[in-house]
Amino acid sequence: MKRFLFVCALGGLLAGCGGGAKREFVSIGTGSQTGVYYPVGGAIKRLLESDESSTINVSVAVSSGSVQNINDVLQGNISYGIAQSDRLYQAVHGLSNWEGKPQPALRFVFSLHPEVVTLIAASDTGIQSIDDLKGKTVNIGNPGSGQRGNALDILNSAGIDPEQDIKAESLTVSECAGMLQDGRIDAYFYTVGHPNGSITEASTGRREVRFVPIEGMDKLIAASPFYAETQVPVDLYPKAEQSGEVKSIGMLTTFVTHADRDEEQVYQLVKTVFENLEMLQKQHPALQKLTPEGMLKGATAPLHPGAERYYKEAGLLGE
Ligand code: GLU
Repeated sequence: MKRFLFVCALGGLLAGCGGGAKREFVSIGTGSQTGVYYPVGGAIKRLLESDESSTINVSVAVSSGSVQNINDVLQGNISYGIAQSDRLYQAVHGLSNWEGKPQPALRFVFSLHPEVVTLIAASDTGIQSIDDLKGKTVNIGNPGSGQRGNALDILNSAGIDPEQDIKAESLTVSECAGMLQDGRIDAYFYTVGHPNGSITEASTGRREVRFVPIEGMDKLIAASPFYAETQVPVDLYPKAEQSGEVKSIGMLTTFVTHADRDEEQVYQLVKTVFENLEMLQKQHPALQKLTPEGMLKGATAPLHPGAERYYKEAGLLGE
């Protein structure tokens, strides 16, 4: 009996046990549980598994964020990864973390929600502008995260040396809200969709917080094909000091895979996501405004052929 179960489990991986249909196991690299990537990964999992004819089993992996996900896709540790469009661009072109090492194997599948580089500070620190970060303890993000590169770009553009002018921390984002509330950091950068758990937690504690505008980035935006002006929707965090919107820069979130990923699998995955978009939109407030056309924007890596097949069939791309 034991042996039968074992064979069955092993066979199940390859061909399904007794069912006939081939089961496929895929993994999605996401982010911190306090971010948006993680629940979005969970939403995609539910969508892919809820389809009656679906043969896909999805596991959602917590991760440090974009940089780790891109590297994990490249190394075959995960099947799909969620990553900021700017980091995907940099990996493909051999910039920043991939300086001199372009990664031609990365493939774009679709875009998801917009992300905003969010700089949140405790009000009692007096930080009102990027310049006020001088001398303060600021979390710029851990090395696997997407926000670390954004924080460094912004600090450099503002003429702030992250090694000399601030006390830069490299904490994972899941620690930040608590550390800000405990007075152990003054501010932190988080590139993320809104609303999210981290900023909600940081803005509902005893220590009042404010969003610091990221302004004067015209040169940075002009020099990079991926940054755009945007705003933090502060009203989503009613306990914060301000209301309305605070200026910043941002990009799109992308769903990424390896060029070697099976064409039919990517086709089926994209088809299921696009044909059930309304269901996906309801799974997280950051996903509410997704549209099929919008999900083809931000393609900073070549399109995977499986995705391309679906987009052509659906009339979203020229033949
Ligand atoms: N943009 C962040 C990163 O790449 C993750 C945001 C999230 O988890 O929603 O590290």
